Amino acid sequence: IALTLAAKQTVHPIYVGAQAHASLHEWADLSCKTLILTDDGVPRAHVEAIASQCSNPVIMTVLQGEGAKSFSVFSDVCEMLLSHKFGRKDLLISVGGGVIGDLGGFCAASYMRGIRFINIPTTSLSQIDSSIGGKTAINVHGVKNIVGAFYQPELVIVDPDFLHTLPRRHLNNGLVEAVKAGLIADSALFDLFEQENPYDHLTEIIKRSLHVKQHVVENDPEEKGLRKILNFGHTIGHGVESVYGLSGLLHGEAVAVGMMPMLGSDSLRERVARVFEKIEIDPYKPYDVPQVLEAATRDKKAQGDTVSIIVVNEPGEAIIESISFDRLAQIMREGHQ
Ligand code: NAD
Ligand code: ZN
Repeated sequence: IALTLAAKQTVHPIYVGAQAHASLHEWADLSCKTLILTDDGVPRAHVEAIASQCSNPVIMTVLQGEGAKSFSVFSDVCEMLLSHKFGRKDLLISVGGGVIGDLGGFCAASYMRGIRFINIPTTSLSQIDSSIGGKTAINVHGVKNIVGAFYQPELVIVDPDFLHTLPRRHLNNGLVEAVKAGLIADSALFDLFEQENPYDHLTEIIKRSLHVKQHVVENDPEEKGLRKILNFGHTIGHGVESVYGLSGLLHGEAVAVGMMPMLGSDSLRERVARVFEKIEIDPYKPYDVPQVLEAATRDKKAQGDTVSIIVVNEPGEAIIESISFDRLAQIMREGHQ
């Protein structure tokens, strides 16, 4: 007898809009126990606005920063859930940036093999990118996202008003992922950056970026092919991030550096550089080529001699190519492919 398994759920509602967070109670059952996970950098008012809608809220505030994505904090959260006798039908809500989203999602996926999870991203990076796609993770021994799970939240609420309190540098950091989304799949989104003042169009930028990501992820939930285009700029970007991240370089800032050599022409490179100037990002930060190459290819060596790169010749169109490590080194040295 053939057994048909239901397709893995990959689509979940995402609400985007000013003050969307205030309608959480209309979209979700909040009568259960609810752990609201956040960090001490997220303004308290945002957290209270969520907690006040829940019947039985427990607020857990961890220390801000990448360090929260650790086994020890993961274990603290699980102990908190256990001590309040959370059951399978209870709920965890992440209120914070990508760190809290990744940590909360992984805790929700693991505790009792999965409890209800809602993600309320409060940084531009998490609103534009990390809150959808279902990837959750913590870091081990300085290796980023090495332990994790694919776990979809039942609901994501994206409220651009939360960004008003975000420091400008973090705002710009997340916008790099929106420029990326435009370049790989939505020329109108890239136009917005080129023709307008992006800060006047944040809601539309977020919506369009989420649309790109949702579309790509829906068609490739387990990262077999198409989803690779989301990695545009990320091969070199991850290398730059692992070398300079500890000294404070942010993810988007590193990815911007990684995108430039993967653009198909000098004229497009100039256009993209002007866009980055608008959002106060330096895509030509000098870096140590051998060190970054080593970091960028560290986890890929096992897969053979080649590495996939994403190339953009025209805004809105991405091409996946397979190249040798030597070629990647050459691209990095020359600054273009
Ligand atoms: P973050 O979560 O560390 O947030 C940045 C800082 O902003 C923190 O100090 C936080 O306290 C503060 N903050 C959050 N919201 C605020 C607000 N509204 N006002 C003022 N301050 C606020 O960093 P991030 O850039 O959001 O996320 C980075 C993480 O996301 C990394 O761990 C990365 O690995 C992960 N990530 C995950 C995915 C994915 O698909 N799951 C994709 C990209 C990145
Ligand atoms: Zn990214």
